[in-house]
Amino acid sequence: MITERKHKKLNIDGVLNRFHSLCEVKGFQVSDMGDGRLVAYRQGGNKTYYMSSGIHGDEPAGPIAMLSMMNNDLYPKDVNILLFPCLNPEGVKQGTRSYKGKDLNRDFAREYSNKTELHKRLVEKFGKLDMSICLHEDWESDGFYIYEQCDDVSHADEVINTISKTFPINTKRTIDNHNVDRTGIIKPNKNKYKKNWPESIWLWKRGCPQNYTIETPSELNLKDRVATQIKACKLLMELN
Ligand SMILES: [Zn+2]
Repeated sequence: MITERKHKKLNIDGVLNRFHSLCEVKGFQVSDMGDGRLVAYRQGGNKTYYMSSGIHGDEPAGPIAMLSMMNNDLYPKDVNILLFPCLNPEGVKQGTRSYKGKDLNRDFAREYSNKTELHKRLVEKFGKLDMSICLHEDWESDGFYIYEQCDDVSHADEVINTISKTFPINTKRTIDNHNVDRTGIIKPNKNKYKKNWPESIWLWKRGCPQNYTIETPSELNLKDRVATQIKACKLLMELN
């Protein structure tokens, strides 16, 4: 059963309109995916970094963080950048995690929804990805944590060390029904996912070698959560 928890609604149309106009200023090609969602791309080098947020409608920090990174020129210019600033604007408008009762972030194996199918088709056009970051929030958590879904190299430890200096880390041994690998770090086994794949597992299985899902605790101050997400993304992009 999907747990729904109502949050103060984010003005997602305002966020996406601003994101769209900034893209044009900052050299990103931006387009509507055909259903009001945006995809933005800027060419810059041999590597491609992917970022997405807002697949869960009750997690406002991600779309705001992606907008703020655009506004403050924090996306590196020497790599290709592929951005999905909000994958579930309808959910955001309703303040609910799901889209029409369906968790889009468990939809990537079977494509239950045409939304996920459209998203996956678009990503395929950009070929090989070198790193992905999915921005999430968790209302049950008392601190920041991260899922590392990586082949060989992982920078999750650097992220936890850096974030811990300014923001609480979730230090529990079990988070979201996963046993942690190291403090604040969950390391899922990609072969255990037979169905209900989250976005990051799909990205990993299609060959992206480093995939991070970062989670901020949605009961804490929004401004601090946004700043924390930006700090983690900036660090991951610098380390790669
Ligand atoms: Zn989420």
